[in-house]
Amino acid sequence: MAPVLELSGVHAGYGGVKAVRGVDLTVGEGEFVVLLGPNGAGKSTTLRVLSGLLKPSAGVVRLSGRDITRVPGHRRPALGLGHVPEGRQIFPDHTVLENLRLGAFGLRRDRTAEKRLLTEMLDLFPRLAERRDQRAGTLSGGEAQMLAVARALMSRPKLLVLDEPTLGLAPLRAAEVFTHIKRLNTDQGLPILLVEQLAMVALKLADRAYVLERGTVALSGPAAEVAADPAIQSVYLGAD
Ligand code: ATP
Repeated sequence: MAPVLELSGVHAGYGGVKAVRGVDLTVGEGEFVVLLGPNGAGKSTTLRVLSGLLKPSAGVVRLSGRDITRVPGHRRPALGLGHVPEGRQIFPDHTVLENLRLGAFGLRRDRTAEKRLLTEMLDLFPRLAERRDQRAGTLSGGEAQMLAVARALMSRPKLLVLDEPTLGLAPLRAAEVFTHIKRLNTDQGLPILLVEQLAMVALKLADRAYVLERGTVALSGPAAEVAADPAIQSVYLGAD
């Protein structure tokens, strides 16, 4: 079976800057994959190519075997790409419920399906249920992150892509977000690609890991092996 996500030989950059050079990366059915690397290694650039914000200069992006390299970014969610962008980008003046409804791609004409999904999300994230009529701009950082995840799930994605979901969160809140993400993977089998600064924590959650350095994959393999790699230990020890 084709992997859910496949990046193959991806090159991308900004004008003269080559940020990503020949990246190969896959996420299989039910897999939890983490993408690590120091600042400026090309993680965000890789995700921009994946979400369609940035056109690769070479290479192919496939979702469930389908070549989506040339599909515009705004059409990718409907194809199954659930992206939680860095900075969350929820609508602060809308309520929690309104934000969730805005995530229901392709379901707008099907009120029954939308209602069922909303109920599911509120069951999955009880904290959001308690705050359903609250303006999203007044949520705490952790709650806002959970709203961003729940909103992405409203489109029933084949793959959930998360860009540094714990950025700026207190350790306890970060742990809550991780618990939710892990549960989505283990309970629902949702494939996940996570970009995360907290490398050692992320490696404990993930099945497999890729480490980017200066735009190329420097190391990849089962998360436990990557965590035990002396090169990783020296880069990240004390970083978490
Ligand atoms: P971080 O962990 O700091 O977010 P990253 O691994 O996500 O880093 P990228 O943001 O992908 O790294 O950056 C890769 C390279 O591309 C860096 O050298 C960066 O300076 C450069 N770069 C990123 N965005 C732009 C841009 N809009 N214009 C020019 N260069 C950019």
